[in-house]
Amino acid sequence: MVGGWGLDFVYTLTNKNDKILTQLVKDIKRNLKKELLPKLKMFNDFKILFGKTTSKGLGLYIGGSYIWKPTMVLDLKNIMASADEYCVDDEVVITSTILHELGHAIQDTLHLPFNEDEAENFAEEYYKNKKIKLDFIKI
Ligand SMILES: [Zn+2]
Repeated sequence: MVGGWGLDFVYTLTNKNDKILTQLVKDIKRNLKKELLPKLKMFNDFKILFGKTTSKGLGLYIGGSYIWKPTMVLDLKNIMASADEYCVDDEVVITSTILHELGHAIQDTLHLPFNEDEAENFAEEYYKNKKIKLDFIKI
């Protein structure tokens, strides 16, 4: 998903469950920063905010944020609901959501139109095979 700069949906996490999840997010981010970003060679870092997206949205990339630092918003409440619904660990949904939003960050960095399928394919391929599938990017 892609959103604008209206950051009024960003919230602060307070309860205990949120702390466990935010630590998990930090760990996943650290790994991706170490393993994926050096291979991508597009940006050195990215930012994760927590907030509300849409009724079922898991995350969104903030359009234009690549200029400073690619920034995304994760909706932990919806992420937990989705993990429950599909009977998978939170880690699976968090990682694939971050990867999906990074797919949008790549599209934005390369001035390509935002495309949900491409972002999803990129996320899936990296999550399952640790391969960077960038066939949508003409390089
Ligand atoms: Zn998307």
